[in-house]
Amino acid sequence: ASIGAHPDDDDSGMFAYMTKGEQIRVANVISNRGEGGQNAIGPELYQGLGVIRTSELLAARNIDGAEQYFLSAYDFGFSKTGKEALTFWNSEKLIGDMVRFIRTFRPQVVLNHHGSEYDSVTGHGQHQGLGEIVPYAIAAAADPAKYPEQIAEGLLPWTVSKVYQRGTGEVVIDRGEFDPVIGRSYQQIGTEGRSFHRTQSMANVQNLGPSVTQYLMVDSTIDESLKGEFFFDGIDTTLPGIASLAGDMEILIPFLRPALTVLDSEISSIIEDYNPKHPELIVERLVGVLTELKTLNANVGKSLVSPVEKNYIQTILTRKISETEIAILKTTGIILEVFTPQEVYTAGDSVKADFSLYNVGKIPVKVLQFGLAADNGDVVDKAVDTVIVNNGICKDTLSLTIDERTPVSRIFWTVEDKNIAVSPEDEAIINKPFRDYPVIGYAKVQIGDEAIIIKNPAQYRYRDQVSGEERDATAVLAPYSIKMSPTNIIVNKANVAQKIDLLVTVTANRKGTVDLSFDKADGLQIVAEKSSLSFNTPQSTQQIKAVLEIPAGYDKGKYDIKAYIRDGNSVISSGYSEISYPHIENQYLYAPSESALSVMDVAMADGVKIGYVQYNDSIPEYLAQIGINVDILTPEMISGSDFSEYDTIVIGPLAYEFRDDLVKNNKKLLEWVSKGGVLIVQYTRTGKWNSLNVGPYPSTVGSNRVTEEDAEMRILQPNNPIFNAPNKITDADFDGWVQERGLYFMNKWDSRFTPLLASNDIGESSQEGGLVIAEYGDGLWIYSAYAFFRQIPGAVPGGFRLFANMLSLPATRK
Ligand SMILES: [Zn+2]
Repeated sequence: ASIGAHPDDDDSGMFAYMTKGEQIRVANVISNRGEGGQNAIGPELYQGLGVIRTSELLAARNIDGAEQYFLSAYDFGFSKTGKEALTFWNSEKLIGDMVRFIRTFRPQVVLNHHGSEYDSVTGHGQHQGLGEIVPYAIAAAADPAKYPEQIAEGLLPWTVSKVYQRGTGEVVIDRGEFDPVIGRSYQQIGTEGRSFHRTQSMANVQNLGPSVTQYLMVDSTIDESLKGEFFFDGIDTTLPGIASLAGDMEILIPFLRPALTVLDSEISSIIEDYNPKHPELIVERLVGVLTELKTLNANVGKSLVSPVEKNYIQTILTRKISETEIAILKTTGIILEVFTPQEVYTAGDSVKADFSLYNVGKIPVKVLQFGLAADNGDVVDKAVDTVIVNNGICKDTLSLTIDERTPVSRIFWTVEDKNIAVSPEDEAIINKPFRDYPVIGYAKVQIGDEAIIIKNPAQYRYRDQVSGEERDATAVLAPYSIKMSPTNIIVNKANVAQKIDLLVTVTANRKGTVDLSFDKADGLQIVAEKSSLSFNTPQSTQQIKAVLEIPAGYDKGKYDIKAYIRDGNSVISSGYSEISYPHIENQYLYAPSESALSVMDVAMADGVKIGYVQYNDSIPEYLAQIGINVDILTPEMISGSDFSEYDTIVIGPLAYEFRDDLVKNNKKLLEWVSKGGVLIVQYTRTGKWNSLNVGPYPSTVGSNRVTEEDAEMRILQPNNPIFNAPNKITDADFDGWVQERGLYFMNKWDSRFTPLLASNDIGESSQEGGLVIAEYGDGLWIYSAYAFFRQIPGAVPGGFRLFANMLSLPATRK
């Protein structure tokens, strides 16, 4: 098992080497879901981003063959020290999550991905913090007195045999080794896997050739002289070695080791005889292995070995049984498909699933049973008595009624106050990526003397005219979903009453009539176009317009507005959004149907015409809410215009990195600045920026950040109009910022630049590269690394006021 901090802290090439080259079961454990990062492919941030990154990790594991697990640390963003990270995290809880994983997965070897000194110089605090606590978790997992509630739940203590970290050491692995069966190197496979981290834009070319990585053993329970040159040297990983798990009690199961020794040589001989053109030739012998493994497992069960050791042995034997069953199904050529005619179901629906069981192999197979199971434990099954021969199909249909107990297809963790929260009944699945599929189909087949079950999640399959076959797992969603937009309403306090359009979207997955109402603060009014909604067809959506009326002079502050529907006695106040991208499975994210209303005071100079080059931020739509309208500059406008109609142009975060049209037309943009334009460039990352030379004068961007969102702010040029007009900026404008002050500050600049603001994390030197301006001809060029892309959607008044002052500069700097 490899334990790392973030979704990109994995080594997919090494995983492929281990799983495909060495046939080792590998777990990748990641402390959080990367919810604090930036999203290179869509608008989702925080929990939504965490959901996508979880799915991206599963997609990567699907390529490299490792398994994916999680801990419940929240990714609160960048921190510089392990100590800071551990203060944010609840270390005791985090260690408990690791202990739960170790006691469940039972790894023989743990790679502490951040255990080395290397990480303390990379400067990522979450790495250092995690690397520091892994050894405590390994020790606690072995100690039945630690986390006793897990022991009470049925988990057993587990002792890890060896612990490694990255860095120069005795284990040297060449991930570039070529796999002649697969026809690619492990590093190529790994690079393909890592290219699924699309929200992090980490895709890469798949190079052949050597790719060496090294590991150092830092702890072990085995004799140091046996540590060898591979992770598992000195650990008995043979089949007969399973008997050693009995310890002193092996004497009570004397049959086990000799029987496993015989099986071991039989399996080697079967593998030797495997002929890919005739896989069926080994089926009968694999069935013999299966029968023997089941007999041994039953006999261990009946023995007098104590429950703990018995569990260790039976867990592994059960795994070997299931691996042998998979080998039998694959060599026989049995494929099960379970399709439902629609993707979405709700409580009360009958799921009608079409089963097709194919025999693509040469041996006739008898079908015994089909079954359909919901994750509440409900099952319908049907006996079958059909033999399918080569290229034959056995088809059938089963229907299962979804009752109220079937958990809806929902994400089981929520994000509350920079913490991951799960309900108590979900604590046991904390290490899992997602809840299990809600509907599973299975078939029982007779192969030789053994009855084997093959399972698959029910899927909705459809034809996409462009991409071809598409499949989505069948989902069970809540009967009703209610959402209200906008989720953030920001109004500029004025002496006139204001009316804000609200849109309430209600999706009904069943027929029915519901009543719509709102909760709101005193003095506010909401008028909806109707309050009773009838749905005559299931899976239909209605949108209801409503108007929020805010009286003149309403107090500045933040207010919650809630929309809910009533279906008889039940009140529904949340709705789901489908998260759907081509590289991941669909997920449904539920959120309360509420809007946060912020009443603030933001002034903007008159007559300033603004253009905005957007990459992925949502600043323009929030500006529009307070009456500042910007034109979004499309690639056509950028290449076709001389920008002369604009007074201010804003470049969205990361736009220089991802918008080639912007880079191509940069000269023209600078020319426009020289004629009097004000250009505001929001943060961009180091590599690309420093090679582009798109600024007016030499400068470089570093990876400098100010991560403490309440870091002290110092105004260096108090007379600059940025701090004075039309909004007078005071300390209060730096209150209530969210997540961080800023990122990717300039670290070097020409003397023609002037820094305007300084701040720093506690204990660090002052960072002045977060807001830097330069006169260029008659115009002004501004680099802003302060995180307006978080403050503005976060409805932070000071963020709006400072941003409005920057936008107003064409008027205020004269
Ligand atoms: Zn990381």
